[in-house]
Amino acid sequence: VTIRYTVHVDDPSVHRAQFTATVPDVRGDAVDLVLPSWVPGSYVLRPYPRGVRSLAAVRPETGEGLETTRVAKDRWRIATGGATALEARYEVYGHELITEGLDVTASHLFLNAALCLPYVDGRTREPHEVELRLPPDWRVYTELAEFGRHPWRFRAPDYDELVDAPIDCGKPVELGTRAGGVPHRIVLCGEGGNYEPHRLESDLGRIAEAAIQVFGECPAPRYTFFVHLAEVPDGGLEHATSTSLVVNRRAFRPAKSYLRFLHLVAHEYFHLWNVKRIRPAAIQPFDYTREMYTRLLWLMEGTTSYYDRLLPRRAGLDTPRQFFEGHFKDWRDYLAVPGRAVRSLEQSSFCAWVEYYLPYEESPNQTVSYYVKGSLVSLALDLEIRHRTENARTLDDVMRRLWTDYGRTGRGLEEDGFVDVVRRATDLDVSDFARRYLSGTEELPLARFLRYAGLELQRKATSPEELQEGVAGYLGIEFEREGEHPRIRHVLDGGPGRRGGLSPGDEILAVDGARVRREKFPEELKQYPPGTEVDLAVFRRGYLTHVRVTFGEPPPESYEAVPVESPTALEKKIYESWVAAPWTSPPKTAPDAR
Ligand SMILES: [Zn+2]
Repeated sequence: VTIRYTVHVDDPSVHRAQFTATVPDVRGDAVDLVLPSWVPGSYVLRPYPRGVRSLAAVRPETGEGLETTRVAKDRWRIATGGATALEARYEVYGHELITEGLDVTASHLFLNAALCLPYVDGRTREPHEVELRLPPDWRVYTELAEFGRHPWRFRAPDYDELVDAPIDCGKPVELGTRAGGVPHRIVLCGEGGNYEPHRLESDLGRIAEAAIQVFGECPAPRYTFFVHLAEVPDGGLEHATSTSLVVNRRAFRPAKSYLRFLHLVAHEYFHLWNVKRIRPAAIQPFDYTREMYTRLLWLMEGTTSYYDRLLPRRAGLDTPRQFFEGHFKDWRDYLAVPGRAVRSLEQSSFCAWVEYYLPYEESPNQTVSYYVKGSLVSLALDLEIRHRTENARTLDDVMRRLWTDYGRTGRGLEEDGFVDVVRRATDLDVSDFARRYLSGTEELPLARFLRYAGLELQRKATSPEELQEGVAGYLGIEFEREGEHPRIRHVLDGGPGRRGGLSPGDEILAVDGARVRREKFPEELKQYPPGTEVDLAVFRRGYLTHVRVTFGEPPPESYEAVPVESPTALEKKIYESWVAAPWTSPPKTAPDAR
């Protein structure tokens, strides 16, 4: 029996939309309407229900009121009084251009069901329909099945699919491309994008082709990239057959910024398989009212991050050098986090709900990003597989196996199922690898894995200009980006700041008696070489204190992959198929670096 919603906007200037939810076939004394507290893809509880202004229920035939009580932040209980159907009327505020938001303006309505279409408790498996009453010249874009216009009508086979298909309304620019024989729409909302339409169509098409190549098929009959052009970028959120991206309207130029956008596109598109269909069994079926735990987010997100660098490379949209720069940025970020020795990848996945999504002052000392480490470990595993199979198998084979055994069949991946999938895909036993780098916190020996591709991991050579400038000392401190004085956000374990006794929240007023300002502080720090001892005047919880610290050696600024002098045939072969480039154009960052 179908649950129906209507949506209209009386006055967009107040950013509220008006809704009705009609529930047929009502039985029992009460019906609960519930709004989700999280959405798949964003693993943190959020106050979505706060936007609900009022909710009242009536008997549809008579309009007679039914007693309605808000019994929890996210739950409205309607006393049926013997009614066999009911209609809830409510209003929701939405004025936030984020990936999973509700945005109501005079020119745009962006609707994610989780924020405004409550489900009927116990009836999420039933079909759901949405009717949109909009200005006649507006268009509507969604991957829900359309079955009417004027007014627009869409249908989802169940609530999960409704939540997984955002609806974008207004007068966006529509571009399109094909990949794997499947139409891909690019829907651009918002003013002032500095994109080049044909380039965008061509590049997104090539990324999609590269992803389809990995799995052998596109699982959707159509796909939509929703691109919201905003002032403040928010990233992307993957959906069943679409993705919602919120990017800076000037993100498409220059080339470096555009490449970042392409990585985001590749990331969200790879999710079409990895996480949207290849899913951890532990988080199925979705319970929208509470946290759902899995140790596999490193595979869902970290491996996807690895492919978001690999796909543009295979599509020829960046250079081998840019490909390596991306991985080495991850490597530097990984090494900068003492928490990598505390949390394994599996543990940091499990704790996403209070760690990755809610970072605070102690985070770098306590946990590691399953995106960053997950991408590096995926890289290592790819090279491990290529090395041990003489390049006959790669991580692509593992992904394809995940697709055929889980994604295509709808079976959820068991929490401990990954090692066995690798075995089925490659005939290799990687349980030792998994013990060290997935469930354990052993340091990842990146250099050893890169050697399999004939590459030597080196600290990037210091330029003559940098040498002349001298080496700036290091405190192992990260600062807040606001305020008059530098205020400490993170004190990294093992760093000079920690040894000197600095604390998060300390506000640095003077170094050796001379006043410091936040804006100039990073520049001023460069005058203290390693070994210099200084007196810091700090406000600690508002009280003046003095701390003596000694500057240490800074960690390497960056790394590079230098081709070895005489690679073996296998190393060369691995390099060429992995980087999708001939060995004769090695990824040197400085022509004379050796
Ligand atoms: Zn992701």
